[in-house]
Amino acid sequence: MSHFENSLAFAQEMDAKDPLKSFRERFHIPNFHEKQIRYFTGNSLGLQPKSTKEYILEELDAWQTYGVEAHFLAKKPWFSYHENLTNKIAEVVGALPIEVVVTHSLTTNLHLMMVSFYRPKGKRTKLICEAKAFPSDQYALESQVKFHGLDLKENLIEISPRDGEHLIREEDILAKIAEVGDELALVMIGGVNYYSGQLFDMKSITEAAHKVGAIAGFDLAHAAGNINLKLHEWGVDFAAWCSYKYLNSSPGGVSGLFIHERHAKSPELPRFAGWWGHEKETRFLMEPGFKPMKGAEGWQLSNAPVLGMAAHNASLDVFMDAGMDRIGEKRDLLTAYLEFIVDEISERNKEKCSFEIITPRDKTKRGAQLSILVHGKARELFDTLTNEGVISDWREPNVIRVAPAPLYNSFEDVFYFGQILEKSI
Ligand SMILES: *Cc1c(COP(=O)(O)O)cnc(C)c1O
Repeated sequence: MSHFENSLAFAQEMDAKDPLKSFRERFHIPNFHEKQIRYFTGNSLGLQPKSTKEYILEELDAWQTYGVEAHFLAKKPWFSYHENLTNKIAEVVGALPIEVVVTHSLTTNLHLMMVSFYRPKGKRTKLICEAKAFPSDQYALESQVKFHGLDLKENLIEISPRDGEHLIREEDILAKIAEVGDELALVMIGGVNYYSGQLFDMKSITEAAHKVGAIAGFDLAHAAGNINLKLHEWGVDFAAWCSYKYLNSSPGGVSGLFIHERHAKSPELPRFAGWWGHEKETRFLMEPGFKPMKGAEGWQLSNAPVLGMAAHNASLDVFMDAGMDRIGEKRDLLTAYLEFIVDEISERNKEKCSFEIITPRDKTKRGAQLSILVHGKARELFDTLTNEGVISDWREPNVIRVAPAPLYNSFEDVFYFGQILEKSI
């Protein structure tokens, strides 16, 4: 985009015009370094909203005052605490409230989803995923295939970028789905790839899976709170995400899961059960015989970790005030500005060190992350950036991931990132 300029005055003008500029004030920006921190790792651990402490203190006070009776006497009764989050997270991921629940942690939820949705039968046993998925997803997928006593090599099909390329071609995913056809049980892919920042077309992958009679599920760890998702409309079968990346809801924070209403309302769908998924009215009768709640809530195992959920609630209220539409607009503009700055610096310094942005150039194929492949002394460059106060993320062998989070990063942050990057070369 040629209307950008690599100058402080330009960056400050962009900030002045930014409809979300006041949101930065609602976050604690880290300050532990002699140099000012420029934080670009909201894709790994989002920053703390200033309101989080107050939300958590409210529940500590309820515990102090009421003990166990806070389950019913607290201002937000713990018995149904997760219900405070349902409508908000439904809006963030584009779902009906009945299709979502906040519960457990991400990898646990992926397993619970596969218990219900990866049930190999007859010749329909195969699972398609992306090559080099996030390690936890790899382990989860492998262990699910093995759990069913199936051969990994034969049943876990990984799709890689073509030789010499960094991104997976969507046409290759769709072609593989068609090719595996009636042997395909499940496609499970990261909606946004954590390494490359590539966003996949979840609607067409879902349609292709359904066309051959398979299920489509997505890990949205890098998509929730980042991408304008429409899970219900796209017909996605299931999804799960964590809340501590773009959703700023505390380290190891509670996860969310989505189950399309066409499945969520089926009590007969097999699942691993626990008391919190049992019909609310009769839960405390403690009678034998599991009767699942209707909707995604019927997949809950355990009572709510209220303190973590309070942090999530604080953050989701910030999201509700900002609105996913405005977040998406700023995300595209801020990421494009970062792209412009990196390209300009790369061009000017190509004798010494050059940068190749491997994340898609097309803004409809990415979110708030650029993965920069460094040709030259990559690790030294990364360490210098860190010493200068830039918090970004290193991935072997030579990729730096930089995520400008629209709620709290400014155009000025991006400008200074460029200044420090150029100085570090
Ligand atoms: C961050 C991330 C995880 C982390 O899983 P936890 O169960 O929350 O530790 C898993 N998968 C992907 C794709 C991730 O990006």
